[in-house]
Amino acid sequence: MSTESFLKMMKDEDVAYVDVRFTDPRGKLQHVTLICDEVDEDFIEEGFMFDGSSIAGWKGIEASDMKLMLDTDSAYIDPFYAEKTLCVHCSVVEPDTGEAYDRDPRGTAEKAEAYLKSSGIGDVFYCGPEAEFFIFDDVRISVDINKVAYEVDAQDASWNGDTEYEMGNMGHRPGIKGGYFPVNPIDASHDLRSEMLSTMKNIGMKVDKHHHEVASCQHELGLVFGSLTKQADELQKYKYIIHNVAHAYGKSATFMPKPIAGDNGTGMHVNMSIWKDGKPLFAGDKYADLSDEALWFIGGILKHAKALNAFTNPSTNSYKRLIPGFEAPVLRAYSARNRSGCVRIPWTESPKAKRVEARFPDPAANPYLCFAALLMAGLDGIQNKINPGDPSDKDLYDLPPEELAGIPTVCASLREALDELEADHEFLLKGDVFTRSQIEGYTALKWEEVYAYEHTPHPIEYKMYYSC
Ligand code: GLU
Ligand code: MG
Ligand code: MG
Repeated sequence: MSTESFLKMMKDEDVAYVDVRFTDPRGKLQHVTLICDEVDEDFIEEGFMFDGSSIAGWKGIEASDMKLMLDTDSAYIDPFYAEKTLCVHCSVVEPDTGEAYDRDPRGTAEKAEAYLKSSGIGDVFYCGPEAEFFIFDDVRISVDINKVAYEVDAQDASWNGDTEYEMGNMGHRPGIKGGYFPVNPIDASHDLRSEMLSTMKNIGMKVDKHHHEVASCQHELGLVFGSLTKQADELQKYKYIIHNVAHAYGKSATFMPKPIAGDNGTGMHVNMSIWKDGKPLFAGDKYADLSDEALWFIGGILKHAKALNAFTNPSTNSYKRLIPGFEAPVLRAYSARNRSGCVRIPWTESPKAKRVEARFPDPAANPYLCFAALLMAGLDGIQNKINPGDPSDKDLYDLPPEELAGIPTVCASLREALDELEADHEFLLKGDVFTRSQIEGYTALKWEEVYAYEHTPHPIEYKMYYSC
């Protein structure tokens, strides 16, 4: 949208405020709200100065001035505020040079798209993320040792993790893994999901469906795929709307990767394809009707998967999901058939829909960094013709231990992922898409989380060791 159209939209819609939004390194959407009189042509051209020192992982207090540049194409009317407010996603630039601030995740996504074009491999990278989530009653979560110990015991007795919300009628409760697709009243959240999806549609997002997921209280809405930076913007809106519609109903939505032990976790599979000159680069006549480029792309993803985990699975909780038996991948393998490997090739007859699905990411990821890092790993695969090896068409969960032993795995902890990223990040630095300083700043934040987690006694330790 041109500046002119943006200003016209403000007038036509009788907008009272403009909300400028950006994303911090951990992936949280941030905002500042301006009265509409402040926003004119000059404002949009010059950008908005703000103090970046309060954003974790960005500049220190001594060099805190930063500038937000509005991407007017991303404008949408906020569906929740009482006063009419036009929201716009921004990238962060250095105020003196106007260059992209290297620790701004949205800027990294834009640079990844530019790098793809400059590489000559393709013009556009499409991502289709499938972010799952849970909805619970809106209770303040405290570390209540007795409660967690109770929950662990209760699971042994087939407790299914439902909240009161889905316990309205005790005769229609979904059991563990029994929630996928039965109609209401088992699927008690149908209306809530419909309202979430309609809210997305009403602000212009491209959405197609919603459904209950496999675990009790777990859900997924369908976002139509889009190009990297735009799609990361869409995912930020997706999470924002899900959180706020749930909140309006007195519920709480969470994208935490493994909120309930013993049941499925929350994934964010990312479907990916590259197009060049208006044609799909991944369609071909090799395994699963893929092209050589698609297979090399998979080779790059599998090779760098452990370093990628630092961006795609960036929480200590992420690694409680990446365990066998819950449809989340553990092994670095690919297949057109089964869902137990890191990469799946969804079946489709249409060359245009030919895509590769990375199954290990989860929605704790910063979408800008997650999609950009996946693209950089895949491009490294194409540039170096990395052979992904043979596909693994057996159900990897059922393989005998001797066969399993030969297959590499993803990381088992955030600590391991950060060490892997330290050892393997050259592929991210190509074209200055990511920078060393950015990776240092990001990992420093993540080490804080690792230490907080490792240094805190865990409720389960009281159960296991209190009486030792
Ligand atoms: N919840 C599963 C995961 O953690 C995915 C289930 C599905 O295939 O939709 O990845
Ligand atoms: Mg799903
Ligand atoms: Mg999927």
